[in-house]
Amino acid sequence: MVAVGTPIWAISLAELEAWMEAEGYPSYHARQVMRWLWLRGVSDPLQMSDLPAVLRRLLQERFDFVLPHLIRESVSRDGTRKFLWRMPEGGSVETVWIPHLKRHTLCVSSQVGCSLNCRFCATGQLGLERQLKGYEILLQVYAARYRLNLPTSHVVFMGMGEPLLNFSAVIEALKGLSQRLGLSPRRITISTVGIPKGILRLAECKEPFELAFSLHTAIPEKRRELIPLAAHIPLEDIRSALGVYCERRREWVTLEYVLLDGINDTPADAEALRAFVSPPLYAKVNLIEYNPVPGLPYRASRRMLEFQQALMKRGLLATIRRSRGVDIAAGCGQLARRV
Ligand code: SAH
Repeated sequence: MVAVGTPIWAISLAELEAWMEAEGYPSYHARQVMRWLWLRGVSDPLQMSDLPAVLRRLLQERFDFVLPHLIRESVSRDGTRKFLWRMPEGGSVETVWIPHLKRHTLCVSSQVGCSLNCRFCATGQLGLERQLKGYEILLQVYAARYRLNLPTSHVVFMGMGEPLLNFSAVIEALKGLSQRLGLSPRRITISTVGIPKGILRLAECKEPFELAFSLHTAIPEKRRELIPLAAHIPLEDIRSALGVYCERRREWVTLEYVLLDGINDTPADAEALRAFVSPPLYAKVNLIEYNPVPGLPYRASRRMLEFQQALMKRGLLATIRRSRGVDIAAGCGQLARRV
């Protein structure tokens, strides 16, 4: 039995079919409801015009059709948009929409706040308020598509939170993205600070999503200074887990590397990175421009191109991720619910 007030978004087709039958309705009505919700973006049961009127009212009584509530929207000079949503089960998170030519990427949050406290990141300063439910992650994409009319071709789990510390909800959202919203898992990227157990679980998943690992430096002592969690997880353990991931899935991973001036952009860092990337780990490097966070002592590296070249000379594939939406604090690591 489904409890009264259950969010409709969290119900599977099979559960809704069973519910229909228990209430004395033919089970095909469940498919109709799903079509209204996920394909047409209609979230008011009273508008589901091919259902009997009594059933529409019953649905409204028994289920919760609530969507995230838009608290604030900011628009960047470069077209990036940032949304602050109040979530159905409380707390607020940010979602960022990044248009680039024909690609429209939505950056979603997986937790309210974040427990990691990485030294260079604004989200870390918030602490963790709570886990998001799988459907709350999914609704960030739903709301962008159907409430804001923003097309989304790619989804990245790079907003607030650490996806692998909310594993089951993230997997539920991932499945929903492909099965309900029709997004190819190939266009979905999960980004992690490096949780070996979670990476090994991902290695066993069937869905062909992409994985990114926030390395930032391959020198363990330096990494421990930048990322407090690194004190508890040896970098070598993460490397082994990533190796298993690459072998099982026959895939490459992306290493994210925020370039901090004078901190991780030296030739020694390039050399350490080269040594880090060797079989069974197959990886390309994505160099990220540091986005300023008020109150933090870091600066963007002035050696970005040199560092990229130093990596290329060592046979590593390295691309540069230019910042987007920095004027509205929507860049990587800037999500702290500030205006
Ligand atoms: N917790 C996950 C998901 C966050 S993704 C992870 O760590 O991967 C956000 C990305 O932006 C991470 O790679 C993070 O390290 C990076 N980042 C954090 N602060 C930043 C800043 N100020 N400038 C640029 N990138 C930043």
